[in-house]
Amino acid sequence: MIMKYLVLAAIVAAVWYGFKAISRRNKAKTAEDQRKKTDSVEDMTACTTCGTFVTPEQGDCGKSGCPY
Ligand SMILES: [Zn+2]
Repeated sequence: MIMKYLVLAAIVAAVWYGFKAISRRNKAKTAEDQRKKTDSVEDMTACTTCGTFVTPEQGDCGKSGCPY
C-alpha cells in the first residue's frame, strides 16, 4: 500500500518538474520573441507614399501602385 503512494508521489514530482521546465523554456522563448520583435520594429521604415511601416524583408507595403 505504501509503495502505491510512493509511485504516485514520484509521478506527481515528475509531472511537476516537467511542467516547470516547459514553463521556463516558454518564458525564455517569449523573451527571445520580444527581442526579435523590437529588432524588426527598429528595422522598419515608413512607406513615403502611404505611410505603411514595412520591414526590409517585405520589400514593399503590398499596395498596388505604390513603389515602396
Ligand atoms: Zn506604400
